[in-house]
Amino acid sequence: MTTKQYCPRCGCEITEYPALSRRDNQTDICSRCGQLEATADMMTLADADKTLPEYCYADNFGQTVMVTRGLSGYIPCPNLSSFREMNRRMNITDLEHDTMLSRSMFVW
Ligand SMILES: [Zn+2]
Repeated sequence: MTTKQYCPRCGCEITEYPALSRRDNQTDICSRCGQLEATADMMTLADADKTLPEYCYADNFGQTVMVTRGLSGYIPCPNLSSFREMNRRMNITDLEHDTMLSRSMFVW
């Protein structure tokens, strides 16, 4: 008997050995999100504005996606609530969302 485990960050089912979130050292997240956290930690960036959240959620043609600070593109999160609801839970403002979304499409 195994219980399905879902990544709290992107909402996908964790099918591989989970990663331990570097943010609290106790939450299991998927390996992809673990890599994203590691990447965020490694970026020494003047490039990416650290006043922005590490990641936020956005809408892509009706599907919730995750945008990561400093990275172009996005990750689909089909199992999550609407991006507005997810951002509200994380106290991400519309301005932060708009800024991160536009930078993910162009340049950080
Ligand atoms: Zn994940």
